[in-house]
Amino acid sequence: MTGMNDTQHLIEVENKYGAHNYKPLDVILCRGEGIWVWDVNDKKYMDCLSSYSAVNQGHCHPKIKEAMIEQLNKLTLTSRAFRNDQLGHFYEELCELTNSHTVLPMNSGAEAVETAIKAVRKWAYKVKKVEPDKAEIITCANNFHGRTLTIVGFSTEEQYRDGFGPFTPGFKTIPYGDIDALEKAITPDTAGFLAEPIQGEAGIIIPPAGYLKAVRQICTKNNVIMLLDEIQTGLGRTGKMLAEEHEGIEADMSLIGKALSGGFYPISAVLANEEVLGVFMPGDHGSTFGGNPLACAVGRAALKVLTEEGLLENAVVQGDYFLSKLQEIKSSHIKEVRGKGLFIGVELFPESGGARRFCEMLMDEGLLCKETHEHVIRFAPPLIIQREEIDWALERIERVLQCD
Ligand SMILES: *Cc1c(COP(=O)(O)O)cnc(C)c1O
Repeated sequence: MTGMNDTQHLIEVENKYGAHNYKPLDVILCRGEGIWVWDVNDKKYMDCLSSYSAVNQGHCHPKIKEAMIEQLNKLTLTSRAFRNDQLGHFYEELCELTNSHTVLPMNSGAEAVETAIKAVRKWAYKVKKVEPDKAEIITCANNFHGRTLTIVGFSTEEQYRDGFGPFTPGFKTIPYGDIDALEKAITPDTAGFLAEPIQGEAGIIIPPAGYLKAVRQICTKNNVIMLLDEIQTGLGRTGKMLAEEHEGIEADMSLIGKALSGGFYPISAVLANEEVLGVFMPGDHGSTFGGNPLACAVGRAALKVLTEEGLLENAVVQGDYFLSKLQEIKSSHIKEVRGKGLFIGVELFPESGGARRFCEMLMDEGLLCKETHEHVIRFAPPLIIQREEIDWALERIERVLQCD
């Protein structure tokens, strides 16, 4: 049985048995195809969140599905105790597309961040010769890098930390987008600087032009590892394979995840140019599922779809169009519209009562998106979206933003 009763029942069961660590919109999805998803009442919605950019390729992409099924029928897990015939290909194709030298595969985004932190610390002691237990990593205010204890320990979001201490030491916070602050914060013990190219969860915060380039210079000058968390900005979201390419630079380490599987499977990776990952010796780090053949086959297909279908180019064209049309909307609620590629934020005035109620109205109109922080609506549809579909979305967004 499906229908309204089913919706209410499933919500009640979830609330009864599940931990309440999310506050989802009350829509129960059961099917997806491309940019569209359907709920249990068979109502159709445009997905403008793309599972936080994990489904850049669109829901249930047929080519990724085919690769996954093919691999499912052959071999799914070997652990890294043995080799598998997908891993080498995955490494090679990933390095070619991202211009990287070495890869370390993990599962979730947070694990990739943790892995990078371990590598940078070890590099600091073994290569840079920082005194034992003195290595420091500089991070930015309003960052989002995941939910493990070490990571929330250097979050500046009070709720992410509240009740979870004590935290891992060795992190220092500076304002995002502030080059002088970075220069001042560096000491001989600084091992790395970690930032997002655009802060996603903070509300699509775009740093001043030239910021990443200046960070690159300062890190090089001071022998500090530059780490970019591209888990959300990477893999085409902003119109480039990695968002760092907008400024023509290369971080020493880049973290990717989310769209690396097109939404089929949790896959993440640490990409390195510097030989930082070379500090890891057998036994230093690992993951039972990291680099498994199913993940590698899915990852290879997901990457291939990004390039073969021109999704980076499409993100630029459709993103420019979407952004400019959003900027034309006349609404007393809109404070600012900003974005890069198909990574777009509409910031509302605090007097408008929060972004959540507009997301709920958009849901009624058949468009799914999510507020990020209190006052920003993020629009990040799958990168396969076409102009007519954006027009469809714009009609609804305009209508909702012109409500009181
Ligand atoms: C989603 C995200 C993460 C965490 O990824 P998980 O797979 O949820 O652990 C880390 N950094 C950024 C920038 C993200 O958007």
